[in-house]
Amino acid sequence: MKLSSIYGLTFDQLVAWLAEKGYKKSRALQVWDWLYRKRVASFAEMTDVKEDCLATLSEHFTIHTLNEHTRQESADGTMKFLFKLSDGNLIETVLMRHKFGLSVCVTTQVGCNIGCSFCASGLLAKSRDLSAAEIVEQIMKVQFHLDAMGKAERVSHIVVMGIGEPFDNFVNMVDFIRVVKDQKGLDIAARHITVSTSGLAPKIKEFADSDLKVNLAISLHAPTNELRTRIMKINKAIPIETLMEAIEYYLEKTNRRITLEYILLKDVNDGREHALQLAELIQHIRQLANVNLIPYNPVDEHSQYQRSERESVRAFYDTLKKQGISCSVRLEHGTDIDAACGQLRSKQIKQSTGDNVVAG
Ligand code: SAH
Ligand code: SF4
Repeated sequence: MKLSSIYGLTFDQLVAWLAEKGYKKSRALQVWDWLYRKRVASFAEMTDVKEDCLATLSEHFTIHTLNEHTRQESADGTMKFLFKLSDGNLIETVLMRHKFGLSVCVTTQVGCNIGCSFCASGLLAKSRDLSAAEIVEQIMKVQFHLDAMGKAERVSHIVVMGIGEPFDNFVNMVDFIRVVKDQKGLDIAARHITVSTSGLAPKIKEFADSDLKVNLAISLHAPTNELRTRIMKINKAIPIETLMEAIEYYLEKTNRRITLEYILLKDVNDGREHALQLAELIQHIRQLANVNLIPYNPVDEHSQYQRSERESVRAFYDTLKKQGISCSVRLEHGTDIDAACGQLRSKQIKQSTGDNVVAG
């Protein structure tokens, strides 16, 4: 029988599990410290945890289940890791270097069922959800790599923008967030974590009701139902009105700023009229919304789309600004190591607001 990884347990779950076996909370604190602060790779290294407790743990759990398959480094320091899961599936994780710190883009599913017409991930139907442990372990593997380089660097930011729809794997995604933001462990600040969704409205509301306090980004990409349905078929089931209602609920409930992602596709959604329609759509929430304009990464199988011209990006940006909409253009990372995946190379999202850079 394959053992599951202990990284999948939140601290409270570990406390409860150990309590069931007759161990006190202090044991959980020790184990947690070894896992996330001292970052050992085996239970045997947890030298101050009693032997019987370690034996019980290793009977039921393992620590690592992912194997590094390949790693590519770009000239700008971006690193793309390809990990092999225990069932043989491959997933990608990307580390990006920014002025504000190191961010990691994690994958949440093997493939994606949402099937957006511009996205490489959508080409592969989802074969399964990742477990919470497999999502946490992506961060840990990258952190182990940084530790091994001996420069005392820490993953400081996380973007849940890799392959998959995180809100279609809600419970595991939430457990993952609880683990990485736990102050007793990795302690990655909630305000440094961003989850992106294609717009599963009921889950946006559930997310708003949670106590997670992490950032939310919505893949909007078009200002009208006609256009959005054309490029994102999910819009048929969840039209813009329903999505906007969920966004309004989220803003009211959390009072947190939200990011609206907008990929600029040449001659599809990048005209002045689209910018004006977008400005009108979000005018009433503009105090709490930031539009992130994303340069399109061409995907071979979706040759109907091209990246917008530099001038169109500038004009779109200027039009939004004139309408009082706060916006930024996403900087790209690791363009020289992008292989098959159409979306993992530009996963920087502006974590700081008011930082409006136009990059081409
Ligand atoms: N499924 C979630 C999160 C993963 S996709 C979502 O759709 O939001 C993360 C972001 O990458 C989304 O905004 C998505 O629209 C964008 N993206 C997908 N394919 C892309 C491409 N080829 N070029 C640029 N961005 C892309
Ligand atoms: Fe899935 Fe997001 Fe890609 Fe759409 S953009 S297919 S939701 S990963």
